[in-house]
Amino acid sequence: MANTIITRFPPSPTGNLHIGNIRTLLFNYLFTRQQGGEIVMRFEDTDTQRSSKEFEVIALETLTALGLEYDHGPFRQSERTDRYVAALRQLIEKDVAYVAEESEGEPGKHIIRFRNPNKKITFTDVIRGEISIDTTDFGDFVIARSETNPLYHLSVVVDDIEMGITHVIRGEDHITSTPRQMLLIEALGGTVPIYAHLPLIIGPDKKKLGKRHGAVTYQEFKELGYIPAGIINYLALLGWHPSDDKEFFTKEELVNAFSLERVNNSPAMFSYEKLDSINKHHLLQLPRDEYLAHLRQFLQQHSFGAWLLDHPKFELLVDTVLRERIEKFSDVLVMIETGELDWLHQLETLDATELVWKDTRFEKVRGHLDHAVALLSESSKWSAETLKERIWAYAEEQGRGEVLWPIRFALTGQKKSPDPFTVAALLGKEETINRLHNAVTLLK
Ligand code: GLU
Repeated sequence: MANTIITRFPPSPTGNLHIGNIRTLLFNYLFTRQQGGEIVMRFEDTDTQRSSKEFEVIALETLTALGLEYDHGPFRQSERTDRYVAALRQLIEKDVAYVAEESEGEPGKHIIRFRNPNKKITFTDVIRGEISIDTTDFGDFVIARSETNPLYHLSVVVDDIEMGITHVIRGEDHITSTPRQMLLIEALGGTVPIYAHLPLIIGPDKKKLGKRHGAVTYQEFKELGYIPAGIINYLALLGWHPSDDKEFFTKEELVNAFSLERVNNSPAMFSYEKLDSINKHHLLQLPRDEYLAHLRQFLQQHSFGAWLLDHPKFELLVDTVLRERIEKFSDVLVMIETGELDWLHQLETLDATELVWKDTRFEKVRGHLDHAVALLSESSKWSAETLKERIWAYAEEQGRGEVLWPIRFALTGQKKSPDPFTVAALLGKEETINRLHNAVTLLK
């Protein structure tokens, strides 16, 4: 095991992993895999009031979904109390810790304090450089509530020593824990690991990323229809950037390109727009079958999207319209909700004046539509390309807007929609001709 890099995934199962936790796990993962090291998974569940098995299960599912594999564990701190108690005893025997009267709370109750040597602790953080902290301010800090009830820092330190952790990569909110933990490691005769404290993730308002900014847990992102490849790629760029301008990475490419030295020490601003564009890139990389399967599965969870799923031209719609538009699967739900796709299964009564391009006369518009009906009726093959071939010469001759606008509007009843050929292909011959006829009638 000599020289092997060992890192840790140490979530507290007190809630669902949020994007900051996941970014930390990802950076541990990328660093460790690149270095050929090993990852220890352990749940820091010493807070028995707030910890729950349910969150453990979800955390493990999240790691699996995101492809963040570990090599050892999962361990649970709640099952390792005897080790912490033994360490505590050792510290008391060496007189670097002592039993003291609780100063606040219940009188007569005892706690265990660490005998602080009150010195300046200096360490070199891989990301932030040399950091010096005077530990005098901490006083003789409490490390256990009783001889059998060790507290957080002691458990972490005992685990880090026993598990042979060589690199502690964690959020900068833990930076103040580092000197206390270093003092404890020294007192227990362990080797101080290398530390790398990752920058905070902030929202556009420069405040710590939280619920009010939008989705923050993996489950929330999943519900919005983001895929693991997109999430991983985006999170890797939160605080880290490659040496070139490359933006799109697979997980394997990240493992190759990543380095802790290239992690910034200034806060990383979360951008939902950037996440969207990266997610879209990865969606477009999916083979067609997989894409359709994902989208179907997604839509199945939302009953109001059922009609779309049942639409006979669903696959054609995906190929010609949706794939180009969708950044995350929930974008389709928004398109359904805003009525943008209504023309696919129903057409509202049209307002005749809307059929008119600029100041073309009604008669002329009617003539164009009649002509389009004639041209399209003859078409035996019904695809966007063939329909375009049929109409295009006429549209060029008469003016594209003047011909294509009324056709498109007659078919969709909407001012914005895909081009008329794509729309006609999706509606099918009969429905297209019908709608064009109806528009002609309306103009009489
Ligand atoms: N359990 C801590 C957390 O979830 C991790 C602390 C550490 O990395 O040392 O924030």
